[in-house]
Amino acid sequence: MKNWFSTPLLTCLATTTFFSVSAQDDKALLKKAHKIHEKAFTIDTHADTPMLLSRGNFDVTKDNDPRTSNSKVDYPRMRRGGLDAIFWAVYLGQGPRTPEGHETAKKKAMGIFDAIDVTLKKTASEAALATTPEEAYQINKTGKRVIFLGVENGYPMGHDITLLKQFYDKGARYMTLCHSSNNDICDSSTDPKGAEYQGLSPLGEQVVGEMNRLGMMIDVSHVSDSTFYDVVRLSKVPIIASHSGAKAICDHPRNLTDDMLKALAKNGGVVQLNLLSDYVKTIPASPEREAAQKAMMEKWGVKDRRSMMGAMSKLSEDDQKKLREEFMDINKKYPVQLATVKDAVDHIDHMVKLIGIDHVGMGADFDGGGALADCFDVSQYENFTVEFLRRGYSKKDIEKIWGGNFFRVMKAVEKGKTTEIALK
Ligand SMILES: [Zn+2]
Repeated sequence: MKNWFSTPLLTCLATTTFFSVSAQDDKALLKKAHKIHEKAFTIDTHADTPMLLSRGNFDVTKDNDPRTSNSKVDYPRMRRGGLDAIFWAVYLGQGPRTPEGHETAKKKAMGIFDAIDVTLKKTASEAALATTPEEAYQINKTGKRVIFLGVENGYPMGHDITLLKQFYDKGARYMTLCHSSNNDICDSSTDPKGAEYQGLSPLGEQVVGEMNRLGMMIDVSHVSDSTFYDVVRLSKVPIIASHSGAKAICDHPRNLTDDMLKALAKNGGVVQLNLLSDYVKTIPASPEREAAQKAMMEKWGVKDRRSMMGAMSKLSEDDQKKLREEFMDINKKYPVQLATVKDAVDHIDHMVKLIGIDHVGMGADFDGGGALADCFDVSQYENFTVEFLRRGYSKKDIEKIWGGNFFRVMKAVEKGKTTEIALK
Protein backbone atom coordinates (compact mmCIF):
# COMPACT_ATOMS: atom_id res chain seq x y z
CA MET A 1 0.00 0.00 0.00
CA LYS A 2 1.41 3.36 -0.93
CA ASN A 3 -1.59 5.59 -0.78
CA TRP A 4 -0.34 7.96 1.89
CA PHE A 5 -3.48 9.98 1.46
CA SER A 6 -5.85 7.34 2.77
CA THR A 7 -3.66 6.48 5.72
CA PRO A 8 -2.07 8.45 8.51
CA LEU A 9 1.36 8.23 6.95
CA LEU A 10 2.45 11.76 7.67
CA THR A 11 1.42 12.44 11.19
CA CYS A 12 -1.02 11.20 13.74
CA LEU A 13 -1.77 12.79 17.03
CA ALA A 14 -3.72 9.73 18.06
CA THR A 15 -0.45 7.94 18.56
CA THR A 16 0.67 9.60 21.73
CA THR A 17 -0.51 6.67 23.83
CA PHE A 18 2.71 4.76 23.20
CA PHE A 19 1.81 1.58 24.98
CA SER A 20 0.99 3.23 28.27
CA VAL A 21 -1.00 0.09 29.03
CA SER A 22 2.38 -1.53 29.73
CA ALA A 23 2.43 0.26 33.05
CA GLN A 24 -0.34 -1.98 34.29
CA ASP A 25 1.42 -5.10 33.16
CA ASP A 26 3.11 -7.55 35.33
CA LYS A 27 6.76 -6.55 35.44
CA ALA A 28 7.85 -10.15 35.13
CA LEU A 29 5.90 -10.55 31.88
CA LEU A 30 7.51 -7.45 30.41
CA LYS A 31 10.93 -8.66 31.44
CA LYS A 32 10.29 -12.07 29.93
CA ALA A 33 8.97 -10.48 26.72
CA HIS A 34 12.08 -8.32 26.47
CA LYS A 35 14.34 -11.33 26.85
CA ILE A 36 12.45 -13.34 24.22
CA HIS A 37 12.32 -10.39 21.85
CA GLU A 38 16.05 -9.77 22.15
CA LYS A 39 16.91 -13.39 21.55
CA ALA A 40 14.51 -14.07 18.66
CA PHE A 41 15.68 -13.40 15.13
CA THR A 42 13.10 -10.82 14.07
CA ILE A 43 12.15 -10.07 10.48
CA ASP A 44 9.71 -7.63 8.94
CA THR A 45 9.10 -8.68 5.35
CA HIS A 46 7.77 -5.47 3.86
CA ALA A 47 8.85 -1.84 4.16
CA ASP A 48 8.85 0.93 1.58
CA THR A 49 11.91 2.71 2.94
CA PRO A 50 13.52 2.79 -0.56
CA MET A 51 10.92 5.43 -1.55
CA LEU A 52 12.56 7.72 1.00
CA LEU A 53 16.08 6.63 0.03
CA SER A 54 15.37 7.42 -3.64
CA ARG A 55 14.43 10.98 -2.76
CA GLY A 56 18.02 11.44 -1.63
CA ASN A 57 17.58 13.56 1.49
CA PHE A 58 16.69 10.84 3.98
CA ASP A 59 19.31 9.75 6.52
CA VAL A 60 18.68 6.13 7.50
CA THR A 61 21.43 6.29 10.15
CA LYS A 62 19.57 9.06 12.02
CA ASP A 63 16.93 8.49 14.68
CA ASN A 64 14.10 10.16 12.76
CA ASP A 65 10.96 11.36 14.52
CA PRO A 66 8.05 9.38 13.01
CA ARG A 67 5.58 12.17 13.69
CA THR A 68 7.45 14.85 11.78
CA SER A 69 9.67 13.00 9.33
CA ASN A 70 7.16 10.75 7.55
CA SER A 71 9.53 7.86 8.24
CA LYS A 72 8.95 4.66 10.17
CA VAL A 73 12.23 2.82 9.60
CA ASP A 74 15.85 3.72 10.25
CA TYR A 75 18.76 1.83 11.80
CA PRO A 76 18.59 3.40 15.29
CA ARG A 77 14.87 2.65 15.55
CA MET A 78 15.36 -0.88 14.20
CA ARG A 79 17.89 -1.42 16.99
CA ARG A 80 15.59 0.08 19.60
CA GLY A 81 12.68 -2.03 18.39
CA GLY A 82 14.80 -5.18 18.43
CA LEU A 83 14.26 -5.67 14.69
CA ASP A 84 17.12 -7.65 13.18
CA ALA A 85 16.10 -7.79 9.53
CA ILE A 86 13.81 -6.01 7.14
CA PHE A 87 12.82 -6.42 3.51
CA TRP A 88 13.05 -3.18 1.59
CA ALA A 89 10.65 -3.12 -1.35
CA VAL A 90 11.66 -1.90 -4.78
CA TYR A 91 8.20 -0.55 -5.41
CA LEU A 92 6.70 0.75 -8.63
CA GLY A 93 3.13 2.04 -8.82
CA GLN A 94 1.13 0.77 -11.77
CA GLY A 95 1.52 2.96 -14.84
CA PRO A 96 0.63 2.65 -18.53
CA ARG A 97 0.80 -0.92 -19.81
CA THR A 98 2.62 0.07 -22.99
CA PRO A 99 6.17 -0.65 -24.20
CA GLU A 100 7.11 2.92 -23.20
CA GLY A 101 5.42 2.55 -19.80
CA HIS A 102 7.25 -0.70 -19.15
CA GLU A 103 10.57 0.80 -20.23
CA THR A 104 10.12 3.78 -17.92
CA ALA A 105 9.14 1.50 -15.02
CA LYS A 106 12.17 -0.71 -15.64
CA LYS A 107 14.48 2.31 -15.54
CA LYS A 108 12.84 3.55 -12.34
CA ALA A 109 13.17 0.12 -10.71
CA MET A 110 16.86 -0.05 -11.60
CA GLY A 111 17.24 3.47 -10.19
CA ILE A 112 15.73 2.31 -6.89
CA PHE A 113 18.10 -0.67 -6.75
CA ASP A 114 20.95 1.80 -7.32
CA ALA A 115 19.73 4.13 -4.56
CA ILE A 116 19.63 1.17 -2.15
CA ASP A 117 23.10 0.15 -3.24
CA VAL A 118 24.45 3.65 -2.61
CA THR A 119 22.81 3.73 0.84
CA LEU A 120 24.16 0.32 1.82
CA LYS A 121 27.67 1.25 0.67
CA LYS A 122 27.52 4.51 2.62
CA THR A 123 26.21 2.81 5.74
CA ALA A 124 28.20 -0.42 5.53
CA SER A 125 29.30 -0.17 9.16
CA GLU A 126 25.66 -0.36 10.31
CA ALA A 127 23.81 -2.61 7.87
CA ALA A 128 24.38 -5.12 5.08
CA LEU A 129 22.47 -6.85 2.33
CA ALA A 130 21.53 -10.50 2.80
CA THR A 131 20.13 -12.90 0.23
CA THR A 132 19.81 -16.03 2.38
CA PRO A 133 18.96 -16.82 6.02
CA GLU A 134 22.56 -17.96 6.54
CA GLU A 135 23.91 -14.60 5.37
CA ALA A 136 21.41 -12.88 7.65
CA TYR A 137 22.64 -14.79 10.70
CA GLN A 138 26.25 -13.93 9.83
CA ILE A 139 25.48 -10.24 9.47
CA ASN A 140 23.46 -10.31 12.67
CA LYS A 141 26.43 -11.71 14.59
CA THR A 142 28.39 -8.56 13.71
CA GLY A 143 25.67 -6.41 15.28
CA LYS A 144 24.61 -4.90 11.96
CA ARG A 145 21.03 -4.60 10.70
CA VAL A 146 20.12 -7.07 7.96
CA ILE A 147 18.57 -5.73 4.77
CA PHE A 148 16.78 -8.04 2.34
CA LEU A 149 15.24 -6.88 -0.93
CA GLY A 150 11.96 -7.59 -2.67
CA VAL A 151 10.27 -6.14 -5.75
CA GLU A 152 6.73 -4.89 -5.26
CA ASN A 153 4.77 -5.07 -8.51
CA GLY A 154 5.92 -7.10 -11.51
CA TYR A 155 5.11 -4.13 -13.75
CA PRO A 156 8.73 -3.04 -14.41
CA MET A 157 9.42 -6.47 -15.84
CA GLY A 158 7.08 -5.69 -18.73
CA HIS A 159 7.06 -8.73 -21.00
CA ASP A 160 10.78 -9.39 -20.60
CA ILE A 161 10.97 -12.37 -18.30
CA THR A 162 14.78 -12.22 -18.24
CA LEU A 163 14.39 -9.17 -16.00
CA LEU A 164 13.48 -11.52 -13.15
CA LYS A 165 17.02 -12.92 -13.19
CA GLN A 166 18.37 -9.35 -13.16
CA PHE A 167 16.24 -8.53 -10.11
CA TYR A 168 17.41 -11.74 -8.46
CA ASP A 169 21.04 -10.94 -9.21
CA LYS A 170 20.60 -7.53 -7.63
CA GLY A 171 19.51 -9.29 -4.44
CA ALA A 172 15.70 -9.39 -4.72
CA ARG A 173 14.36 -12.55 -3.12
CA TYR A 174 10.67 -11.99 -3.67
CA MET A 175 8.44 -10.25 -6.14
CA THR A 176 4.87 -9.15 -5.47
CA LEU A 177 3.13 -10.00 -8.72
CA CYS A 178 1.05 -6.83 -8.94
CA HIS A 179 0.04 -3.75 -6.97
CA SER A 180 -3.35 -2.04 -6.62
CA SER A 181 -4.33 -2.47 -10.30
CA ASN A 182 -4.22 -5.33 -12.76
CA ASN A 183 -1.01 -5.61 -14.76
CA ASP A 184 0.12 -7.86 -17.62
CA ILE A 185 0.94 -10.64 -15.14
CA CYS A 186 -2.30 -10.99 -13.18
CA ASP A 187 -5.47 -9.55 -11.69
CA SER A 188 -5.16 -7.37 -8.59
CA SER A 189 -7.45 -7.53 -5.54
CA THR A 190 -8.27 -3.82 -5.73
CA ASP A 191 -8.61 -2.91 -9.41
CA PRO A 192 -11.88 -0.96 -9.74
CA LYS A 193 -12.30 -2.42 -13.24
CA GLY A 194 -12.48 -5.92 -11.80
CA ALA A 195 -10.94 -9.13 -13.13
CA GLU A 196 -9.24 -9.20 -16.51
CA TYR A 197 -7.84 -12.72 -16.69
CA GLN A 198 -9.69 -14.41 -13.79
CA GLY A 199 -6.26 -15.01 -12.27
CA LEU A 200 -2.85 -15.19 -13.89
CA SER A 201 -2.33 -14.19 -17.51
CA PRO A 202 -0.34 -16.59 -19.76
CA LEU A 203 2.67 -14.32 -19.06
CA GLY A 204 1.91 -14.63 -15.33
CA GLU A 205 2.04 -18.42 -15.58
CA GLN A 206 5.51 -18.11 -17.11
CA VAL A 207 6.54 -15.73 -14.33
CA VAL A 208 5.57 -18.32 -11.68
CA GLY A 209 7.69 -20.95 -13.46
CA GLU A 210 10.67 -18.65 -13.79
CA MET A 211 10.51 -17.47 -10.19
CA ASN A 212 10.39 -21.10 -9.03
CA ARG A 213 13.40 -21.83 -11.22
CA LEU A 214 15.37 -18.88 -9.84
CA GLY A 215 14.52 -19.56 -6.21
CA MET A 216 12.68 -16.27 -5.86
CA MET A 217 9.67 -16.21 -3.53
CA ILE A 218 6.31 -15.44 -5.10
CA ASP A 219 4.45 -12.81 -3.12
CA VAL A 220 0.66 -12.95 -3.37
CA SER A 221 -0.05 -9.78 -1.38
CA HIS A 222 -2.16 -7.45 -3.57
CA VAL A 223 -3.25 -10.16 -6.02
CA SER A 224 -6.91 -11.09 -6.56
CA ASP A 225 -8.31 -14.23 -4.99
CA SER A 226 -8.38 -15.97 -8.39
CA THR A 227 -4.72 -15.06 -8.99
CA PHE A 228 -3.89 -16.45 -5.56
CA TYR A 229 -5.45 -19.82 -6.39
CA ASP A 230 -3.68 -19.95 -9.76
CA VAL A 231 -0.33 -19.31 -8.06
CA VAL A 232 -0.94 -21.94 -5.37
CA ARG A 233 -1.87 -24.44 -8.08
CA LEU A 234 1.15 -23.72 -10.27
CA SER A 235 3.97 -23.02 -7.82
CA LYS A 236 6.16 -26.00 -7.06
CA VAL A 237 7.38 -24.39 -3.83
CA PRO A 238 5.74 -22.56 -0.89
CA ILE A 239 4.59 -19.00 -1.47
CA ILE A 240 4.39 -15.90 0.72
CA ALA A 241 2.01 -13.04 1.36
CA SER A 242 4.59 -10.43 2.43
CA HIS A 243 2.04 -7.99 3.88
CA SER A 244 -1.56 -9.19 4.28
CA GLY A 245 -4.08 -10.02 6.99
CA ALA A 246 -7.13 -12.18 7.70
CA LYS A 247 -10.37 -11.22 5.99
CA ALA A 248 -12.43 -12.87 8.72
CA ILE A 249 -11.07 -10.28 11.17
CA CYS A 250 -11.10 -7.26 8.84
CA ASP A 251 -13.15 -7.49 5.68
CA HIS A 252 -10.84 -5.83 3.15
CA PRO A 253 -10.03 -7.14 -0.36
CA ARG A 254 -6.32 -7.01 0.53
CA ASN A 255 -6.81 -9.61 3.25
CA LEU A 256 -6.98 -13.39 2.80
CA THR A 257 -10.15 -15.43 3.28
CA ASP A 258 -10.13 -18.48 5.54
CA ASP A 259 -10.17 -20.72 2.49
CA MET A 260 -7.13 -18.93 1.06
CA LEU A 261 -5.31 -19.19 4.40
CA LYS A 262 -5.97 -22.94 4.42
CA ALA A 263 -4.67 -23.27 0.86
CA LEU A 264 -1.58 -21.25 1.79
CA ALA A 265 -0.88 -23.52 4.75
CA LYS A 266 -1.36 -26.61 2.59
CA ASN A 267 1.16 -25.13 0.18
CA GLY A 268 3.59 -24.73 3.11
CA GLY A 269 3.66 -20.95 2.75
CA VAL A 270 3.46 -18.05 5.16
CA VAL A 271 1.34 -14.92 5.60
CA GLN A 272 3.11 -11.91 7.09
CA LEU A 273 0.77 -9.56 8.92
CA ASN A 274 0.26 -6.10 7.45
CA LEU A 275 -0.03 -3.26 10.01
CA LEU A 276 -1.86 -0.84 7.78
CA SER A 277 -4.59 0.26 10.18
CA ASP A 278 -7.36 0.08 7.57
CA TYR A 279 -6.54 -3.58 6.92
CA VAL A 280 -6.28 -4.42 10.63
CA LYS A 281 -9.57 -2.94 11.80
CA THR A 282 -12.39 -0.99 10.20
CA ILE A 283 -12.67 2.24 12.15
CA PRO A 284 -15.49 4.57 11.09
CA ALA A 285 -14.21 7.71 9.40
CA SER A 286 -14.86 11.08 10.97
CA PRO A 287 -17.31 13.09 8.83
CA GLU A 288 -15.32 16.29 9.48
CA ARG A 289 -12.13 14.68 8.27
CA GLU A 290 -13.86 13.28 5.19
CA ALA A 291 -15.31 16.72 4.35
CA ALA A 292 -11.93 18.42 4.77
CA GLN A 293 -10.24 15.84 2.55
CA LYS A 294 -12.98 16.16 -0.07
CA ALA A 295 -12.59 19.94 -0.15
CA MET A 296 -8.83 19.58 -0.47
CA MET A 297 -9.18 17.12 -3.36
CA GLU A 298 -11.63 19.40 -5.16
CA LYS A 299 -9.25 22.32 -4.76
CA TRP A 300 -6.41 20.35 -6.34
CA GLY A 301 -8.60 18.82 -9.05
CA VAL A 302 -8.21 15.27 -7.75
CA LYS A 303 -11.11 13.01 -8.68
CA ASP A 304 -10.88 10.54 -5.79
CA ARG A 305 -8.38 9.06 -3.36
CA ARG A 306 -7.35 6.38 -5.77
CA SER A 307 -6.17 8.93 -8.32
CA MET A 308 -4.32 11.01 -5.72
CA MET A 309 -0.84 9.66 -6.41
CA GLY A 310 -1.26 10.01 -10.16
CA ALA A 311 -2.56 13.55 -9.78
CA MET A 312 0.32 14.42 -7.47
CA SER A 313 2.92 13.25 -9.92
CA LYS A 314 1.65 15.85 -12.38
CA LEU A 315 2.15 18.70 -9.90
CA SER A 316 5.30 20.76 -9.53
CA GLU A 317 7.57 20.00 -6.56
CA ASP A 318 6.30 23.16 -4.85
CA ASP A 319 2.67 22.20 -5.29
CA GLN A 320 3.33 18.66 -4.09
CA LYS A 321 4.85 20.12 -0.94
CA LYS A 322 1.85 22.40 -0.46
CA LEU A 323 -0.55 19.49 -0.91
CA ARG A 324 1.37 17.38 1.63
CA GLU A 325 1.28 20.27 4.10
CA GLU A 326 -2.45 20.64 3.65
CA PHE A 327 -2.85 16.93 4.22
CA MET A 328 -0.77 17.18 7.40
CA ASP A 329 -2.91 20.08 8.60
CA ILE A 330 -6.03 17.99 8.14
CA ASN A 331 -4.39 15.16 10.08
CA LYS A 332 -3.54 17.53 12.90
CA LYS A 333 -7.02 18.96 13.01
CA TYR A 334 -8.88 15.65 12.66
CA PRO A 335 -6.51 12.94 13.87
CA VAL A 336 -7.10 9.43 12.64
CA GLN A 337 -7.91 6.76 15.13
CA LEU A 338 -5.59 3.84 14.53
CA ALA A 339 -5.96 0.13 15.18
CA THR A 340 -3.84 -1.27 18.01
CA VAL A 341 -1.38 -4.10 18.60
CA LYS A 342 -4.22 -6.03 20.26
CA ASP A 343 -6.35 -5.63 17.12
CA ALA A 344 -3.42 -6.86 15.00
CA VAL A 345 -2.76 -9.85 17.22
CA ASP A 346 -6.43 -10.79 16.78
CA HIS A 347 -5.45 -11.55 13.15
CA ILE A 348 -2.54 -13.70 14.30
CA ASP A 349 -4.79 -15.53 16.80
CA HIS A 350 -7.37 -16.22 14.12
CA MET A 351 -4.80 -17.48 11.62
CA VAL A 352 -3.04 -19.65 14.21
CA LYS A 353 -6.34 -21.20 15.27
CA LEU A 354 -7.25 -21.85 11.64
CA ILE A 355 -3.95 -23.02 10.11
CA GLY A 356 -1.51 -23.47 12.98
CA ILE A 357 1.54 -21.58 14.24
CA ASP A 358 3.80 -22.44 11.28
CA HIS A 359 2.31 -20.10 8.70
CA VAL A 360 2.26 -16.60 10.19
CA GLY A 361 4.76 -13.77 10.46
CA MET A 362 5.14 -10.00 10.37
CA GLY A 363 5.26 -7.64 7.37
CA ALA A 364 4.14 -4.21 8.58
CA ASP A 365 4.29 -2.13 5.40
CA PHE A 366 6.08 0.63 7.32
CA ASP A 367 6.88 3.63 5.12
CA GLY A 368 4.03 2.45 2.89
CA GLY A 369 1.16 3.24 5.25
CA GLY A 370 1.66 0.73 8.07
CA ALA A 371 1.12 2.27 11.51
CA LEU A 372 -0.75 1.27 14.66
CA ALA A 373 -1.50 3.44 17.68
CA ASP A 374 0.97 1.50 19.81
CA CYS A 375 3.29 0.26 17.07
CA PHE A 376 3.69 3.40 15.03
CA ASP A 377 7.14 2.53 13.74
CA VAL A 378 9.76 -0.21 14.03
CA SER A 379 10.97 1.08 17.39
CA GLN A 380 7.80 -0.28 19.06
CA TYR A 381 7.92 -3.83 17.79
CA GLU A 382 8.49 -5.30 21.24
CA ASN A 383 4.87 -4.44 22.05
CA PHE A 384 3.91 -7.38 19.82
CA THR A 385 6.04 -9.82 21.78
CA VAL A 386 4.43 -8.55 25.00
CA GLU A 387 0.98 -9.17 23.53
CA PHE A 388 1.94 -12.60 22.16
CA LEU A 389 3.16 -13.59 25.60
CA ARG A 390 0.08 -12.19 27.28
CA ARG A 391 -2.07 -14.37 25.04
CA GLY A 392 -0.17 -17.49 25.93
CA TYR A 393 2.18 -17.95 22.99
CA SER A 394 5.33 -19.84 23.95
CA LYS A 395 8.88 -18.65 23.31
CA LYS A 396 9.09 -21.16 20.47
CA ASP A 397 5.82 -19.89 18.95
CA ILE A 398 7.03 -16.30 19.17
CA GLU A 399 10.31 -17.16 17.48
CA LYS A 400 8.40 -18.82 14.66
CA ILE A 401 6.19 -15.75 14.17
CA TRP A 402 9.14 -13.34 14.25
CA GLY A 403 11.14 -15.09 11.58
CA GLY A 404 11.37 -18.86 11.92
CA ASN A 405 8.40 -19.52 9.67
CA PHE A 406 9.51 -17.08 7.03
CA PHE A 407 13.06 -18.43 6.90
CA ARG A 408 11.64 -21.95 6.54
CA VAL A 409 9.83 -20.83 3.38
CA MET A 410 12.81 -18.85 2.11
CA LYS A 411 15.04 -21.92 2.45
CA ALA A 412 12.46 -24.18 0.78
CA VAL A 413 12.19 -21.83 -2.20
CA GLU A 414 15.98 -21.59 -2.52
CA LYS A 415 16.31 -25.36 -2.23
CA GLY A 416 13.54 -25.96 -4.76
CA LYS A 417 15.20 -23.96 -7.50
CA THR A 418 16.26 -25.85 -10.55
CA THR A 419 18.99 -25.42 -13.08
CA GLU A 420 16.72 -26.38 -15.92
CA ILE A 421 16.02 -23.55 -18.30
CA ALA A 422 12.31 -22.94 -17.99
CA LEU A 423 12.29 -20.37 -20.73
CA LYS A 424 14.10 -19.83 -23.93
ZN1 LIG B 1 1.80 -3.13 -0.73
